[in-house]
Amino acid sequence: MGRPRAYPGASVGHVTGVDAATVRRWLEGSAAALHEQRDYLTQLDAAIGDADHGTNMDRGFSSVVAKLAELDGTEAPGRILVTAGSTLVSTVGGASGPLWGTALRRAGRVLGDGATFEGPALATALEAALDGVVELGAAQPGDKTMVDAFEPAVRTLKQELDAGKPTAEALASAHAAAEEGMQSTVPLQATKGRASYLGERSIGHQDPGATSTVVILRALELAVAADQ
Ligand code: ADP
Ligand code: MG
Repeated sequence: MGRPRAYPGASVGHVTGVDAATVRRWLEGSAAALHEQRDYLTQLDAAIGDADHGTNMDRGFSSVVAKLAELDGTEAPGRILVTAGSTLVSTVGGASGPLWGTALRRAGRVLGDGATFEGPALATALEAALDGVVELGAAQPGDKTMVDAFEPAVRTLKQELDAGKPTAEALASAHAAAEEGMQSTVPLQATKGRASYLGERSIGHQDPGATSTVVILRALELAVAADQ
């Protein structure tokens, strides 16, 4: 069997490039969804943390949206992500600020100054984002953190793109993999972050950071699907 084309959508006339408008839609969609899910995320964090995850993510992403409004609209997608990441680092005190801040900054740096990029570049950028999270937080899959949702999502995205799926479809699968990873955190004992202080008592609860990661990846799926 021959290797499928990495990006078949390009040959059948779909609009396949992701651009600055898509990235803005992703960040704005994330902010709206995190705002909506704020109380739920905080409840999850109340069970195994300090009840601030929803507030942290909502505050951080609403600051990102405010910051985007100050930009002049000509910035490349990579630059937008770097700015968003820096905004998260400077506005969120909890672990999730530096973690997501690093993730978005790394993704943005990988994308560089190009005006548009295709699915494989998005996968590479998200892989760099995941690497940044792992370098900073030292969590591996199974530690009951956001990595349990992010890692399978990135792996699935790459696999699906390699198999020739269009980006929007591959992102839908990545989102599904993240959701499965999020659910897999329930029976785990936390070994990283604040939840690890609870030891065995962290078992039986869904990780808040894995949950917000699903929210953010769902927003990415919707932002790219809106382009197709
Ligand atoms: P804090 O724990 O400082 O209160 P948040 O409540 O905003 O920060 O975020 C908690 C989430 O951060 C956890 O549910 C987990 O997913 C994630 N997290 C915590 N520590 C780590 C780590 N070392 N690596 C990856 N993710 C982590
Ligand atoms: Mg917390």
